[in-house]
Formats: sequence, C-alpha cells, structure tokens
Amino acid sequence: MVQSHAPALTALKELSVRLGTDITRTQGAGGNTSVKVDGTMWVKASGTWLKEALEKEIFVPVVVEPLVKALKAGDIRADKATDFIVQELNACKLRPSIETSVHAIMPQSVVAHFHCVNAIAHSVRADARECVAGRMAQLPHLRWSMVPYLRPGLPLAQGIAQVIHEAPDVVILRNHGIIVAGDSIDEVAERIEAVTRALAIVPRESAPPDLDYLAALAAQSSFRLPAERDSHRVALDPHACRIAATGSLYPDHVIFLATRPAVLGEGESLDGLLDRAREAGEPQPKMIIVPGRGILVAEDLSAGGETMAQCLAEVALRIDPDARIDVLSDADEYELTHWEAEKYRQKLDRAFER
Ligand SMILES: [Zn+2]
Repeated sequence: MVQSHAPALTALKELSVRLGTDITRTQGAGGNTSVKVDGTMWVKASGTWLKEALEKEIFVPVVVEPLVKALKAGDIRADKATDFIVQELNACKLRPSIETSVHAIMPQSVVAHFHCVNAIAHSVRADARECVAGRMAQLPHLRWSMVPYLRPGLPLAQGIAQVIHEAPDVVILRNHGIIVAGDSIDEVAERIEAVTRALAIVPRESAPPDLDYLAALAAQSSFRLPAERDSHRVALDPHACRIAATGSLYPDHVIFLATRPAVLGEGESLDGLLDRAREAGEPQPKMIIVPGRGILVAEDLSAGGETMAQCLAEVALRIDPDARIDVLSDADEYELTHWEAEKYRQKLDRAFER
C-alpha cells in the first residue's frame, strides 16, 4: 500500500540531494528539509547528510501540533523533539534534527533550512538588514524576515515565532543561514533558486596555495593538508584571513572546527603556535591558517570538519572587507559546545565514513 506521504517524501528527497551536493548551500551534516503531510512532519534526522537522502533513510516523522504547542509553551521537550516522534513510522530509530522545532513553527508544508554561504556572508554584517533588503527588493513577490542569532533548536524556533506574523516565505537567520518555505516542493525549489540568485556574491579571487611549503611545515606534525584545495583560499586573501581570525561566524564552525582558527604568525614555527595556544589555555586548534600559503588541518579532522573548512573559505571570500561584522560571543560558543544534542551530532560525524 502506498502511504499518503510517499510522493511528497520522494520529491523532498530529490530536493534534499540537490541542496546537499552544493557546497555553497550545504556543508556536511548541516541544513535540513521537511514536509508536513496530514499532521505529521517528516524532517531530516540529526547528523545525517542531505546529499544521502536517496541512498539511506534520513527522515523522521514527528507530530506537528503537539510539538508546536510545546514550543509555544516553552516546554523543553520541544528542543530535542524526540518525544514527538511517530515511533511506528520510524523504523530506523532516527533522532530528529536539532532544528526540528524551527521547521515545525513555520506554517508552510515544505521547509528548507540550509547554510547558504551567500546568506551567511550577508547575515554576519552589522548592516545585514539593509544588505538583504537591497537584494530581496529584486523579489517583491516574496516576503522575508530576519531573526537575530539564537542557539539552534528551541531558542531559534522561539525567535522565529516572533516574526511569524510577518508571514515570511524566507527567513534570514543572522550568523547562521536561511529558511525558504512554501506550499509545495516545486514552489520551494523555485524559491531557493530565486533567493540564492538574488543574494549571490562573487567571491574574491585568490592566488594558488603553496602546497610544497605547507607539506614541509606539516611534516612530522599532527597536522596535514585539507582534502579540498579550495579550503586553502581563506589563507590566500588577507581580508578573509583577518575575518576568519576575528571569531566564529556561525554555529557549525564551532561544532565541527572548534572556535576561531589559529593564524601562524610571520616567522613563527608550528611548535611556537601550539605553545602559544597552550599558554593561552586554548585547546589544540583543528585548523591553522598560514597567511599567503594555505591552511593545515588536524590529522584527525572529521569529514564534517573538512566541509566546514571549505565553508569558511566560501563565506570569508564573500564578505566585503569594509563591512563591520558580528561574530558569536564566548557565551554563544560555550552554549553550542556544552549542549547534549550537538555532542550527539559530533559523535555521528566522527562515525561518518567519507
Ligand atoms: Zn542551521
């Protein structure tokens, strides 16, 4: 028997793969999609990758109404949303995305949330609202709202609840990403294309990395070259280097790459840098920027960390060097790294086979 949600879920999976295979829209386990059918919302499971939507089961069914009720009441169970799973339809025993409540609060039947590098590059600017307003003026048929940075999960969903009366089709999440919603998969797919076009920023060109220099530097150390050549670009543009060193721009950077990357000083050795970090009471960095040469990453950096290194280059090269930017506070970083739901996601990331 074909269940009523089957066609919508298949279309959602196809959209998810398209979103998940574009590094400028989704990195690793980031981003999530959902569809609501007959009071049940099928939402991406925590720690799964959108690009695998057609290969494995990555969607979990949750009941919408009780979840929204809990969310509005500030009930902590809305944060993880595990109490709202429709167990009989969750054969794979998946756990819903940490952003499930964000999907539930949006009234539209189809919701796509992703970490579009263009949206992030606008959203970290102190003048984000003016920036986005200028771009979205190209799409007068779409309503949009903006929410300040809030920890993903319940706080973010409650922040979105504050702008729901504006009936947004698009929500820009400061220092985080974007939500695009609509009443059908096709509508959302179309809107995603239109919005990403409107928000598009051409990244600055950068010189090629000095791979020999980096390999020599990494020899006999616990660091290596990143998997993707494009990840080096953050070190090859002086503005991007400065921006990256300013602080954490968005949550997944903190989750998968720890806090701000270390920058190797002029004439400084790798050991010197590690001593400096130790003396400052900082953990060993997962990523080191070698200005003008490229980057090194920790030997054991996970697949998710690799995609976040790429993301950082994509974002930083799109930020106007003259713009004032806002970064996550120490308290924001602490909240992300001491949150059980994120520890679960990190554990899945370490288990993820590339
Ligand atoms: Zn997100």
